Amino acid sequence: MDKKPVIGCNVNAIYQAGGLPIMIPLGLAEGDLQAILARVDGVLLPGGGDVDPSYYRYPASDLHKRVDMDRDRVEIVTAQTAVTHHKPLLAICRGHQVLNVALGGTLWADIPSEMPGALAHDFDDVKPRNYAAHTITVVPDSILAYHLGTTETAVNSLHHQGIRDLAPGLRAVATAPDGLIEGVELPGHPFAIGVQWHPEWLVADNPAMHRLFQGFIAAASNGRDH
Ligand code: MN
Repeated sequence: MDKKPVIGCNVNAIYQAGGLPIMIPLGLAEGDLQAILARVDGVLLPGGGDVDPSYYRYPASDLHKRVDMDRDRVEIVTAQTAVTHHKPLLAICRGHQVLNVALGGTLWADIPSEMPGALAHDFDDVKPRNYAAHTITVVPDSILAYHLGTTETAVNSLHHQGIRDLAPGLRAVATAPDGLIEGVELPGHPFAIGVQWHPEWLVADNPAMHRLFQGFIAAASNGRDH
């Protein structure tokens, strides 16, 4: 069987870290989604379009791009379930924003339009997806720093939205030089981490990103009950 990896995607990053990736479809009734979530060892929420602003009590406007309300519904339930049931959760870019919204936080609808003093964060369609756009500083005693094995590194940046008000319970554990929250985690949970960058595009360039996926898969393996 051909096992040639697909370079640069989450499926490959999970596979390289020793995990077995499966996809969860949209359109499921909530009970069926819960039945699937009960059977998996961990959940990755990937990048994508913007969360509908009604989920964080923000007015609709043309600042929001590529909204898919069924994807919002499925992913918000998935994030809340992973939190409640201590299911390992790695939330990437849009996923990091979904996690914040799912727990009651808000987003910048468009960083260049709204956030004072912001750096450029949206290099999508401008640079290669592994382009080192800015540095991040990681809180030394965080779970994120433990898995990355570093407290400072360069990351890619493919987003025009970001965390505005942090959700209750989440801890901000990584920031960009302009102060934007680039990493969050949930204290007391074995592995609930959100990152605003895309580690899956950096695993070949930066060993810290491969270690992050290894930490996620290790947490998922530890939680196995079958
Ligand atoms: Mn960024």
